[in-house]
Amino acid sequence: MFLQRSAATVARRAAAASPLLRRSIATTAVRRDGVPDQPKIKTLKEIKVEADLIGPGAAPGTVPTDIEQATGLERLEILGKMEGVDVFDMRPLDASRRGTLEDPIMVRSAGDKQFAGCTGFPADSHNVKWLTMTRERPVTRCFECGGVYKMEYVGPEHSDHHYHNPHGFKEPKSLADYVKPEYWK
Ligand SMILES: [Zn+2]
Repeated sequence: MFLQRSAATVARRAAAASPLLRRSIATTAVRRDGVPDQPKIKTLKEIKVEADLIGPGAAPGTVPTDIEQATGLERLEILGKMEGVDVFDMRPLDASRRGTLEDPIMVRSAGDKQFAGCTGFPADSHNVKWLTMTRERPVTRCFECGGVYKMEYVGPEHSDHHYHNPHGFKEPKSLADYVKPEYWK
């Protein structure tokens, strides 16, 4: 009995001594009374500038949903999904044939660089091999099955930043480029 009572006393003292605890409870009650009107959520058609892709946020005291807090490209994707528009074209690549150099499998890309996962032909013949394409080097070949893929750039016409390799790595054009320069002497 003595132990029980003393534990309860300690808990009461701790609560009384903690201004943080008291303040957070009181603040929540005040905010709930004065919830301001939340800005309207813009639809996909109403998105004109980058600032339109900032969500209104959640009402104070509530947990935000994705549509309330998502920002930027994530928001664009969600707004698209709500209207049945596949903003990022997430359809699988053409798997009806193996791509060749004459007739590669086309991969649309809105960016300077694009990754594509090949599983061979017929599909799932081999494990996923990730291939990289860039605007400078749009054609690539799967090192497992030989399937050829080509990136089709569909991004902004005047992209103000040209793709460049951050490490200054020079893109090899042929096998000869893999030979160290000193070996040519
Ligand atoms: Zn492959």
